[in-house]
Amino acid sequence: MPSLNDIRKTFLDYFARNDHEVVSSSSLVPQNDPTLMFTNAGMVQFKNVFTGAETRPYKRATTSQKVVRAGGKHNDLDNVGYTARHHTFFEMLGNFSFGDYFKEQAIEHAWNLITKDYGLNKDRLMATVYIDDDEAFGLWQKIAGLPESRIVRIAGSDNFWSMGDTGPCGPCTEIFYDHGEHIWGGPPGSPEEDGDRFVEIWNLVFMQFDQQADGTRLNLPKPSIDTGMGLERVAAVLQGVHNNYDIDLFQSLIGASVEATGVKAEGEALPSHRVIADHLRSTSFLIADGVTPSNEGRGYVLRRIMRRAMRHAYLLGANEPLMPRLAPVLVQEMGGHYGELKRAEATIVETLRQEEERFRRTLGRGMTLLDEATENLKDGDVLSGDTAFKLYDTYGFPLDLTQDAVRAKGLTVDTAAFEVAMEAQRTRAREHWTGSGEKAVAAEWFSIKDQIGASEFVGYDHLNAQAHAQ
Ligand code: ATP
Ligand code: MG
Ligand code: MG
Ligand code: MG
Repeated sequence: MPSLNDIRKTFLDYFARNDHEVVSSSSLVPQNDPTLMFTNAGMVQFKNVFTGAETRPYKRATTSQKVVRAGGKHNDLDNVGYTARHHTFFEMLGNFSFGDYFKEQAIEHAWNLITKDYGLNKDRLMATVYIDDDEAFGLWQKIAGLPESRIVRIAGSDNFWSMGDTGPCGPCTEIFYDHGEHIWGGPPGSPEEDGDRFVEIWNLVFMQFDQQADGTRLNLPKPSIDTGMGLERVAAVLQGVHNNYDIDLFQSLIGASVEATGVKAEGEALPSHRVIADHLRSTSFLIADGVTPSNEGRGYVLRRIMRRAMRHAYLLGANEPLMPRLAPVLVQEMGGHYGELKRAEATIVETLRQEEERFRRTLGRGMTLLDEATENLKDGDVLSGDTAFKLYDTYGFPLDLTQDAVRAKGLTVDTAAFEVAMEAQRTRAREHWTGSGEKAVAAEWFSIKDQIGASEFVGYDHLNAQAHAQ
């Protein structure tokens, strides 16, 4: 059975053999696009090559790109723990043609690789094409011999890609694998397509137009190819498992989490172990690329992911920080291909330890408050914005963590009321800031709180109480 590392290598070797330059993954923090929070696809590092603003000494490239989808256009954070196929961090395997080969060769390469090198069963594969892309439809018949019933025309944005409001764009074709009748879900385009039976493994984008500001599309003089395949998804197929979290890598990570907590990966504990393993990867790779937990921007996304994992560690009954204990296992598994992970190991462990120690000071009390507040709520009810705000402000629970925590009970959070409470607190803080004497001390604490995180706000109350006691 091929390992995750073997499967990555087979992909890169295939395209290297077919005259593609093997290019390293770029950082998760995009260097060329200030509007993008994290690198969310393989094409990100090649954006300027596709538009023609930059040229490279090669016309074909292949990569295994580190990707995080936990915010912005692609946010899969809420899918983790619920679907069999989504991670916050994953590896996107890709091949790229910069004005070189186009549709026919792109489909040929994809089909050759998955059916010959990977040896997938043709009868389990199907493809989608953009609604009016007769050319791609015909190529799937000609190259793959797919019957018409297994080529689906799709109208939506899933099958039409664009870089932005203007610039390169074009139709996509997506390749799906059918995991079998025993799993819930329907083929793409059907009402049950969101199930996990038919899993999208590979997306090929045909960049053939240049969209103008007025919406018209001109033909690109040299059309290009951009593809993305989820390594973990294809690994699940090749390792004969349905769920991405059952592949070799995740079994090691989950095994380590089971060993450290003494809680088996079954029943209610299973999603917790999976979330922890997933979030361990995204947080460790983000730290390796220089992101540090903070209260804004990228750093806050990192903190939110970390704390979500840490709540699950708490649910498993971990009585000491769990994430720093698991990080070396991840480094062991993935540090071979991603040297930056190995180099940053000490920083990763230390950052995880500090954050988990800090959050654990308030996590338990926050969970008690949350349990009490939801005790009498039932499916479909709404948790008050005030409670969510108290959890945020006093106990360091990011809003999305609270939403995630109550989702299992079928509850939602009154986010509008949360925002009102947040705004009121900002106003109070501003009033304090203009004062002097005691108020200046308060202001100081507010600014410290902003820098080091809401959970530390308890320190303020605590300090006040101590001051009064003296
Ligand atoms: P889905 O519809 O399943 O959410 P997508 O269409 O959003 O996938 P693309 O943007 O086309 O995904 O990304 C290219 C490939 O990356 C997908 O075909 C899939 O194999 C993989 N992929 C996408 N999102 C994830 C994720 N969150 N975790 C793991 N793999 C993913
Ligand atoms: Mg998606
Ligand atoms: Mg899709
Ligand atoms: Mg897709």
